[in-house]
Amino acid sequence: MDPQTSATVTHLRHPARVVPRSGHIISRANIDERALKVLYRLKSAGYEAYLVGGGVRDLLLGREPKDFDVATSALPEQVRELFRNCRLIGRRFRLAHVYFGRDVIEVATFRSPHAAGADEGGAVTDAGRILRDNVYGDIDSDALRRDFTVNALYYNIDDFSVVDYVEGMKDIEAGRIRTIGDPHLRFREDPVRMLRAVRFAAKLGFTIDPATERAIFDLGGLLAEIPASRLFEEIQKLFLAGYAAQSFESLRHHGLFGELFPQIEACLGEEEGGFPHMLLVRALENTDRRIGAGKPVTPAFLFAALLWDPLRRLMDEHRGHGLAAMEALQLAADTVISRQIARISVPRRYTQMTRDIWTLQPRLARRTGAYPFRALAHPRFRAAYDFLELRTLAGEEVPGLFEWWTEFQHAGEERRRAMIETVPKTGSTRRRRRRRASS
Ligand code: ATP
Ligand code: MG
Repeated sequence: MDPQTSATVTHLRHPARVVPRSGHIISRANIDERALKVLYRLKSAGYEAYLVGGGVRDLLLGREPKDFDVATSALPEQVRELFRNCRLIGRRFRLAHVYFGRDVIEVATFRSPHAAGADEGGAVTDAGRILRDNVYGDIDSDALRRDFTVNALYYNIDDFSVVDYVEGMKDIEAGRIRTIGDPHLRFREDPVRMLRAVRFAAKLGFTIDPATERAIFDLGGLLAEIPASRLFEEIQKLFLAGYAAQSFESLRHHGLFGELFPQIEACLGEEEGGFPHMLLVRALENTDRRIGAGKPVTPAFLFAALLWDPLRRLMDEHRGHGLAAMEALQLAADTVISRQIARISVPRRYTQMTRDIWTLQPRLARRTGAYPFRALAHPRFRAAYDFLELRTLAGEEVPGLFEWWTEFQHAGEERRRAMIETVPKTGSTRRRRRRRASS
């Protein structure tokens, strides 16, 4: 007999396989102390409590979990009563956040599936989409309402076993993302799960089960129904978690990228393999490298890179109609950003920074008089300079410009003045041309 299959819990509605401590690699020493504290406190208050979700999944794969989620029989209000440092959040999905300094343990009450219509805790549209998911249940109903089998494994702190209702262990071993139940149904319930499938596959190096994948190809269009605010959160997880390059390729392959970034998809369609794709992929790889090295990343930079090509095209159009360069850029930036936030609500503090990165690009090309000093003093200079590097690597910018700025930043006063004096006069040709055109 498979040594892992030691017991079947038969009192539960859906027989669960219980994998004992000897049958898996999770050691209590790898579990966050604060998650353990939450589990023990809930238990000693008489509630059921398990570690579940990404934490268990990642530990089973020998990876370091990003965060720890707890599932419990305690209601959100009961969780709050137990922890001083607790806040209840979310309307669609009510959840307790237990804070330890800046870290948070998410505590979710066991859920139950619910039928179409709306009642106290749940709301489901006629098309099957879940609008509110606050009908509480027990652990076996909770397992079935989770998205993927690998995300529905419960770690039991009492005997260190893993409880598996959905053959998740098998999929962990096979490296497979598979929905719990009929994938078409599950993606109709919540189309964001399609993005999650792609994200987990990219992050874990898993394949997507053929039936699950088929449903993604069929239903990608449903993402249009998801509020732009929820998509911003997902985008951050897709592109700012260290697996942006793979996520991008997979989103494109599965026909989901265009649902999120229609303007970029239109450009990519025309120039596959050419310039924009290269800048984009470089930006994503660069972001992944920075995250890998523990350096900070901002969505603003990413959006600047992603939307650069749509911006340039629109700008060229405006210039073709006679607008001056900076005017054309400003106008194009307005349009490109407002079209994008209709799909993904990027907070204003980021879109403002994206815009600054863009408008600093032509300013970096002006290397006469006081211009370079003003650009250098701009609060977004560093991001704009990094962006210039990206353009250079993608083969776009004036030869030597990036290197010039690299030296200028670190040079002393005298050297800076000399650098400005000896700059090749490329910046002024445009002005001359414009003057001629208007005379
Ligand atoms: P990550 O490593 O990104 O934290 P995760 O699997 O823990 O991955 P969370 O968003 O933290 O993802 O969610 C925790 C768990 O809650 C998931 O593992 C899954 O069981 C369940 N879950 C989250 N979002 C959904 C969803 N949209 N539909 C169904 N179940 C979900
Ligand atoms: Mg998690």
